[in-house]
Amino acid sequence: MTATRILVLNSGSSSVKYQLLDMSDNSRLAVGLVERIGEETSRLKHTPLAGDGRSREQNRPIADHDEALKAVAEELSQDGLGLDSPELAAIGHRVVHGGKRFTQPTVIDDAVLKEVERLIPVAPLHNPANLTGIRTAMSLRPDLPQVAVFDTAFHTTMPESAARYAIDVETADAHRIRRYGFHGTSHAYVSRKTAELLGKRPEDVNVIVLHLGNGASASAVRGGMCVDTSMGLTPLEGLVMGTRSGDVDPAVIFHLMRVAGMSADEIDVLLNKKSGLIGLCGDNDMREIRRRIGEGDEAARLAFDIYVHRLKKYIGAYYAVLGRVDAVAFTAGVGENAAPVREAAVAGLEELGLAVDGALNAVRSDEPRIVSPEYARVAVAVVPTDEELEIARQTYALVANRAGDRQEN
Ligand code: ADP
Repeated sequence: MTATRILVLNSGSSSVKYQLLDMSDNSRLAVGLVERIGEETSRLKHTPLAGDGRSREQNRPIADHDEALKAVAEELSQDGLGLDSPELAAIGHRVVHGGKRFTQPTVIDDAVLKEVERLIPVAPLHNPANLTGIRTAMSLRPDLPQVAVFDTAFHTTMPESAARYAIDVETADAHRIRRYGFHGTSHAYVSRKTAELLGKRPEDVNVIVLHLGNGASASAVRGGMCVDTSMGLTPLEGLVMGTRSGDVDPAVIFHLMRVAGMSADEIDVLLNKKSGLIGLCGDNDMREIRRRIGEGDEAARLAFDIYVHRLKKYIGAYYAVLGRVDAVAFTAGVGENAAPVREAAVAGLEELGLAVDGALNAVRSDEPRIVSPEYARVAVAVVPTDEELEIARQTYALVANRAGDRQEN
């Protein structure tokens, strides 16, 4: 029997999201989530899509990731999809920070674990949680290939001119300060899908990808390779996000330290958790902001305008970086669903060949689609992202290749 199933794990500090996919037809067999790990109110929600599709829930304290993954394994077993199945080819792990070194999905061994651990200072929130998930999965299935798929990997093709900050080189290198970029799995998937939508090969198209979820980032992709992206050393830089400020003058930080007496940790919380849309108007959900604008709410209107102004600046900047643009692709929660954001982001850019067609832009659909008028030189596309499928695809490609190599030897 050929093993074609991939379990995708996305381990956060207090949650584990998972999907089991069958790569023979890219179908999803089960999806689920364990949240509030370590609290009294933990919850596991499991949906076996291959079976009756009815979700099952466990509401009980789940102490740690080990217990969480064991509970997931039991749920999967109940559907005949257990981790001991010979059809399971590998486990693919989302790892947020792969630094400069990890440019590709990588089979995890001790050396890889050490390197991911070495990167904790640049990803203090994410890499420890990702590592816990990996170690737990390895203890459950030590014989199975476990693959790390890095959020940063797609951006490692950025030229030094885009990746380096203009700060003292020795200081930057000593502390590994450079622009790494994030959401890479999504930017890779969406830029490839956009080429498909245009009926072209990825090598032949230049795309600006706008991943607008709660976190948001833009990337400039030339011929399938990332040449610039808006997130930097951490996911704080760039666009206005749900709770993150995106770009600010770095002097804001010393100013707050000197004048407001705030500590580094307090400013960290301010810029990451209390800024962006929520800081501007008290809401971080674009649906709520649109509703409030409809009622004439000024703060919501200004938050929306600031969000769109920044977005437009990045479209212009990446247009200039790429020189020629074939498509601007919107993705993730806001990008896929908020037609007014798409419309406002390209408004006034007709001279650049950019426009949306009102009727096409208003259509709701889960399918990749073009929303620009036929005459427009640049396609404006809505391309739903699928990070889990992309992680599964990259994981499967790697283990299938290894199996092929073994057979040849
Ligand atoms: P995450 O970064 O958490 O993965 P998502 O990509 O799921 O985020 O995006 C979540 C955001 O998408 C929500 O906070 C909300 O602002 C936005 N969103 C979801 N649905 C809609 C909608 N129908 N209209 C406008 N915005 C939406």
